[in-house]
Amino acid sequence: MSRLCFLYGTVHARKTKSAYAIRNRFLKYHLSTMIMAPTTTHQDDISNYDYLIGKEENIFLTIKRQFSHMKLIIIDDAHLLSEVQVDQLLQVAISQNIAIICFGLRTDFRTSEFPGAKRLLEIAQVVKEIPTKCTCGNKALFNVRKENGKTTFSGTQIKTGQIITYEALCPKCYYHKVMQYKKLKESGIL
Ligand SMILES: [Zn+2]
Repeated sequence: MSRLCFLYGTVHARKTKSAYAIRNRFLKYHLSTMIMAPTTTHQDDISNYDYLIGKEENIFLTIKRQFSHMKLIIIDDAHLLSEVQVDQLLQVAISQNIAIICFGLRTDFRTSEFPGAKRLLEIAQVVKEIPTKCTCGNKALFNVRKENGKTTFSGTQIKTGQIITYEALCPKCYYHKVMQYKKLKESGIL
């Protein structure tokens, strides 16, 4: 039996870079490994992913049929998987003896959990945080969304595009932004 691991962090925690570094280390020792990501990945450049996981795809069956020779499968943006798909990954680790390392966010820009991250926190055998720093120097915990450079707390859970950026903040700075946003809303500026 192999293990299902979840390494989570805020935006800018260099999660994708870490994923590639692990893959390269494995390949150096001639151990077959690959990187997957959900089709809804936040990354603009998907050319480095070996496989994209469809929204409704049974990832257990895909791996069993096509990638059963792998020793390690890394999943980037794993918080975007469905809860069912996370359960399927645990099945891969248990019955196919393939180690699974998932990288992802824990919460969205409103501090709510992503379904995939919630399930990973519940069932992964190894759960580790990748620490990041807020601009004030404290440990970052939350992600703030900016649209055209302006902080926003409205919109759907998943939103990407050229005008959308994210910032990692500590709880104090995050709630300062929330209060500022509320004041602007109340005064009718937003
Ligand atoms: Zn801060």
